[in-house]
Order: sequence, then C-alpha cells, then structure tokens
Amino acid sequence: MNRIAVLTSGGDAPGMNAAIRAVIRAGCDKEMKMFGVRDGYEGLIAGNLVRLRARDVGGVIHLGGTFLGSARSKEFKTPEGRARALRNLRELNIEALVIIGGNGSQMGAYELSKLGFPVVGIASTIDNDLYGSDVTLGVDTATNIALEAIDRLKVTASSHRRAVLVEVMGRKCGYLALICGIAGGAETIVIPEFEITPDDVAESMLDAFRRGKNHALVVVSEGAKSNATVLTQMLRQHQELSGFEVRTTILGHVQRGGVPSASDRILAARFGIAAIEQIAAGNHGILVGIHNGEMLYTPLAEVAANKKLLDLNLFQMAKTLAT
Ligand code: ATP
Repeated sequence: MNRIAVLTSGGDAPGMNAAIRAVIRAGCDKEMKMFGVRDGYEGLIAGNLVRLRARDVGGVIHLGGTFLGSARSKEFKTPEGRARALRNLRELNIEALVIIGGNGSQMGAYELSKLGFPVVGIASTIDNDLYGSDVTLGVDTATNIALEAIDRLKVTASSHRRAVLVEVMGRKCGYLALICGIAGGAETIVIPEFEITPDDVAESMLDAFRRGKNHALVVVSEGAKSNATVLTQMLRQHQELSGFEVRTTILGHVQRGGVPSASDRILAARFGIAAIEQIAAGNHGILVGIHNGEMLYTPLAEVAANKKLLDLNLFQMAKTLAT
C-alpha cells in the first residue's frame, strides 16, 4: 500500500500530535505518500485531506491537542455519511487509513472496515475506556495534570482543615478518578463503577475527621451519579454530616490541553510506527494498543464487542491506603 491517510477523532488527547508525526514519518520512511484528514470524520465526509511530508510534522511533538483538528461527526454515524467518506477515499486513491481516537472513533473505524476499507486504529483517549489497550494515549498526561491540581488543593485544604472535592473527567469510566485518587491520597473516590450515595461520602469524610485528619480529599468521576455538583450541594447544606467545610473544583478540559508527558510521546511513537508496520505487512481492521509493555493488535470487531473493565484491585488498594 502506498497512499495512506491519518485522522484524529473524538475528544483530543495529549500525544495525538506526536502520534500523527510518528505515523507520517514512519510512512515516509517506507516511501509511502502520506495524507492528513482535517477535523476527523467530518473532514473525511468533506474530502478535506492534505498531503503531509516529514517536514510538515516538525515542531508538533510537544504540543497538546491535534493540529489536524478533531470533531464529533453525527453524519459519520449514518450509512450515507460513511458512504460519502468512502467515496472520497476511493477518489483520492487512498489505500489505508489510520484512525487515532477513543471508543466512539474506533466504532467508526470498525464500520469503515466492514465496508471493505483497510483501517488501523490507534488507541487514544484520556478516559482509558477502550478495550484492547492497557493504557490509551493521553491518559498519563491527563493524570499528571489532574494530580498537580489535586496536590495543590490538598495543601490549601490542610491549612484550613477543609475537605476538597475534585471532579475529574473520564465520561462513564472511573479509571482517571481512581488513579488520581490513589496517587493523590484520596480519602474517598466516587466512580460510576462503584456508585455510592452522598450520605456514604459524608460518612467516610466524617470518619476521616474523627480519625484526626486535617483534610479530606474526595476525587469524583464526572460520570458518577453523585458527581461534584450533587455532592457539593448536599455537603454544603449538611456540614454536620461530614465534619468538614467543603471546597469544590471541577477540573474539566484543563486535563485535555496539556503538554504531552514523556511517557505519552514514547507511546505515540510506538503506536505510530506499529500502525504503519501493520499496514505495510497487509494487516488491517485492527486496533494498535499495548498490553504488558508489548504492542497488542486486536481485531476492531473484538474492540467493538467488548467493554474494558476496571481493575477492582485498584479500588481495594485505594480503600486500604485511605485509613
Ligand atoms: P473520547 O472518548 O476521547 O471522547 P471518542 O473517540 O470515544 O473519544 P466519540 O465522540 O465517542 O469520541 O466518537 C468520535 C466520533 O466517532 C463520533 O463523533 C462519530 O463520528 C464516530 N462514531 C462514534 N460511534 C460511532 C458508531 N457507532 N458508528 C460510526 N461512527 C461512530
């Protein structure tokens, strides 16, 4: 295969630029003609592709976001939208497509592969909710950004004997909250996979108060029913239930725009090179991920049919360390 395109889709994740760079340069190294698609699946439907050479991806390795742009395309979810995308790819003689993105994006990749077009996915989302990779591109950076904020909030909370409630991203997956909670030393972690009531949260805080703690850190996943808004309202109205005065911070998109960590840049390099090697070997319809430090190639059909499960041991670890 000689004419290859790459796109980024869904929520931007730190390291996407480094992955585009790796795909383009690995392709150039194999004398492939490389193209970038603007704005994810929207650009594919509009036929918005640009030729990218090795020099065109200079100076992007350290930048968050994606210079190609990303989008959430409703049209691509329709058979008509996908047919238009396919027509454009065929008209431009593109022979394979690399799709850098999360769960939804890889569902889209699977749909395209079912139409007979060669695609290879690269696992990239800060949510880490994608089957087929232990970690996804962007998680490490997002975790470190959230952690830096959590550390600072904990310092000020301790000075005033307050509780700090921090909401992190992750959509319906509690991974980011769980990891940030363990690494930040949280007293309580609230995630969609283990729903607890606001009363339970207050009780665990009161318990920490009675054990003589001078702060309580609660890390909440945005996808939990008891999210930061729900919890704050209850804890502010009934301080007697938790013992602490509470301050809330919703981190939101600040976790997405960061400078990619060294770990994410290396992962991007490995993913990008592996994706091109697979295409060169004639393999497609797969997701490039990582498992136990080794590259893992999972059929997109399997990715689409399975849900990534959270490691329950991590939740127990967090509980043990919160005493
Ligand atoms: P993140 O989790 O970081 O937000 P994501 O890839 O999961 O990333 P989504 O918004 O879920 O983000 O999906 C991105 C795009 O993928 C959607 O806007 C849509 O165009 C396409 N997509 C999602 N699901 C499907 C599907 N079932 N069939 C076809 N295309 C899909």
